Amino acid sequence: MTIHMRGSAGNDSPIRLVIHGGAGSVKSGQGPEREQAYREALAQSLIAGHAVLAAGGNSIDAVIAAITVMEDCPLFNAGKGAVLTHDGRNELEASIMEGATRAAGAVAGVTTIRNPIRAAHAVMTKSAHVMLIGQGAEIFAAKQDLEIVDSSYFYTRHRWNQLQKAIAKESILLDHDAGLDTLPGEDEKRGTVGAVALDCQGNLAAGTSTGGLTNKHPGRVGDSSIIGAGTYADNRSVAVSTTGTGEMFIRTAAAFNTAAQVRFLHAPITAAADNTLEEIAAIGGDGGLIVLDADGNYAIRFNTGAMFRGTIGEDGIARTGIFPGPETPALSC
Ligand code: ASP
Repeated sequence: MTIHMRGSAGNDSPIRLVIHGGAGSVKSGQGPEREQAYREALAQSLIAGHAVLAAGGNSIDAVIAAITVMEDCPLFNAGKGAVLTHDGRNELEASIMEGATRAAGAVAGVTTIRNPIRAAHAVMTKSAHVMLIGQGAEIFAAKQDLEIVDSSYFYTRHRWNQLQKAIAKESILLDHDAGLDTLPGEDEKRGTVGAVALDCQGNLAAGTSTGGLTNKHPGRVGDSSIIGAGTYADNRSVAVSTTGTGEMFIRTAAAFNTAAQVRFLHAPITAAADNTLEEIAAIGGDGGLIVLDADGNYAIRFNTGAMFRGTIGEDGIARTGIFPGPETPALSC
């Protein structure tokens, strides 16, 4: 849980990328190899996004690059390896927002789009809409030449086992809290993913992608695809991506709530994030969020035992963390 101060915004803004791979009740003690696997996956995501920013690319493309790496990595609850609905299907959702224009795009209830974050971006840039769901979203994505896969691509046997446990307990589980008190085993992947970025033009962007909750009702949509709940970006305040008990993040309009505190109350970003988490806790939710402003200041806050997370700036050093404490170098580029 940290805040860092950086220089002022402008055409030579300090570049910055902050990511998360989900928050939850994970505790330490599962061994350094497993932690290292997560940290390396987070570092790969950071390095992919940083490459875009360091080459003068924009924050939206950096967010897409970072999230695509995590969607393709079965360690996380997004894209391949996502959790299953009550009837054993992967229903994915994602959203993205650009801080300069407040353009936004989202998809939900999709089962065949390999990278839902790319589909959310296509909705933002190539449709007249903000959100498309289900088959309509999939037909649209195919027309945009996005990669379509058989729904079995997302499936893992271990997600199936996790679902059977949740059904037996008659519970709907946040991925990170799926009855585990250690780091996820090789077979128990977890973690909604998200990214916020600031490019050298001083423009912010945010994105989030998930498979949602284990044993969720078919058709359930969480916060991750809801602009203002799971994702928000506005150059006048901050870019935000959230993870946690989605229903409570929707009810508190968590991402917009955080941005509004910064914009209208001039709240420091850490205080704004903490206020949002307090509101969420007050109605029985938990989780975390990443916040980045147009000066490059960022906050990573969570009220769970852990949050998979990382950040990278101009020095190109990928810093990652899982448990409370400062993010530390994992890999550098
Ligand atoms: N917020 C996500 C959802 O409710 C879950 C998560 O962040 O792990 O779908």
